[in-house]
Amino acid sequence: DYRRGGYHAVRIGDAFKNGRYVVQSKLGWGHFSTVWLGWDTQKSRYVALKVQKSAQHYTESAMDEITILQQVAEGDPEDQKCVVKLLDHFKHSGPNGQHVCMVFEYLGDNLLTLIKYSDYRGLPIHRVKEICINILQGLDYLHRQLSIIHTDLKPENILLLSVIDPSKDPIKSKTPLILPNSRDKSSIESAVSRLNANMGRETSAAKRAILEREGIKMGSRSTRQNLLASADLRCKLVDFGNACWTHKQFTTDIQTRQYRCPEVVLGSKYSTSADLWSFACICFELATGDVLFDPLNGAYILHFQDHLALMMELLGMMPRKIALGGRYSRDFFNKFGDLRHIRRLRFWPLNKVLVEKYKFSERDASELTEFLVPILDFVPEKRPTAAQCLLHPWINRIPCSLEPNQAQETQNSQKKRDKDEKEAMEIGMRN
Ligand code: ATP
Ligand code: MG
Ligand code: MG
Repeated sequence: DYRRGGYHAVRIGDAFKNGRYVVQSKLGWGHFSTVWLGWDTQKSRYVALKVQKSAQHYTESAMDEITILQQVAEGDPEDQKCVVKLLDHFKHSGPNGQHVCMVFEYLGDNLLTLIKYSDYRGLPIHRVKEICINILQGLDYLHRQLSIIHTDLKPENILLLSVIDPSKDPIKSKTPLILPNSRDKSSIESAVSRLNANMGRETSAAKRAILEREGIKMGSRSTRQNLLASADLRCKLVDFGNACWTHKQFTTDIQTRQYRCPEVVLGSKYSTSADLWSFACICFELATGDVLFDPLNGAYILHFQDHLALMMELLGMMPRKIALGGRYSRDFFNKFGDLRHIRRLRFWPLNKVLVEKYKFSERDASELTEFLVPILDFVPEKRPTAAQCLLHPWINRIPCSLEPNQAQETQNSQKKRDKDEKEAMEIGMRN
């Protein structure tokens, strides 16, 4: 992909926008871009620099992304809505063409990394709730205030804020690691040893990134413990590269396959509730470490049909009207609403999966099931909104880490709140 129209070859120490941003290390990449930790020499702070591929199609998509990001930032001057902030944007010319560059606030690891740190066994349930609250706050803002659909919600596109004690994290301190043109190995080594001297044996995102780039593997135990034990996990939604408005959609082909909702698979119309389907998949993945639906990777019919079968095995048969209502419905379903090529479905409802496969207690399983199953409704209009999810008892139930006495007290008042909220929600859903 490093050819004309593709990625720009960025190197540590490269400067962008007439020297303003100096590249420190690689943060990540996607199908459209590479993302770099940069030092903003004008404002003395770290930023994330997203350098888009240069072909016209990518440039146009980046311009749409910028329009959406600007709207997202304008509506959230207090920075309370759990969405990433765009700080600057410009164009950069290189051997592969002209690349749109976006400058963002620097955020931490993405949720997939967090799931990896749990050894794919899932996070403690109170951690899952904390993260879900932030995702839902972000979605509620996008959906209700801006009529924006994210359309690519997945763990890689949700980033943690601060995960390491800020006083020990050079990212939060005010010194750049690498200055312009110091791209040779010896200067990287000296930057690393400077970090070592400053911070004892502490691990930091920046140090790890530099070492990883140099092919040196760090013992990840301390990072892992830092992450999972940190006091307050907070996160933000990123990657508005595929976002659209409810009234202005760019394509019918949205979402990453495991997080794709049935209406998109079937080629029916979609709206903000498509994001909620993806959200439910992510919530399950955080709690168990496993992808909720992992359809076979294969030809179109095989892949989509397998995906529909997996959904029905978990959630029951799809209403015939929905099954037959999409542009591609007849590729998968016969006129009775049965799958054409897959005859025997092995039904395994969510609460049983949680108990039998993931060893959840009956209670934890039924609580999570009560929260998730309504969001996984085959009828998009019946799914609760992000705002309604935020009122659900599962989200609001007290974390088990509270002291027993305190917990008892909170539990009593919580029970009453639960009841009131459930009633409010039922009324809301009926209307
Ligand atoms: P996709 O293939 O999902 O469309 P993309 O090319 O649009 O990806 P992003 O998802 O915006 O790119 O960014 C790619 C990765 O870079 C993210 O998954 C994340 O790990 C990292 N990243 C993006 N923005 C930031 C940020 N503000 N701070 C830290 N890391 C970031
Ligand atoms: Mg992405
Ligand atoms: Mg993207």
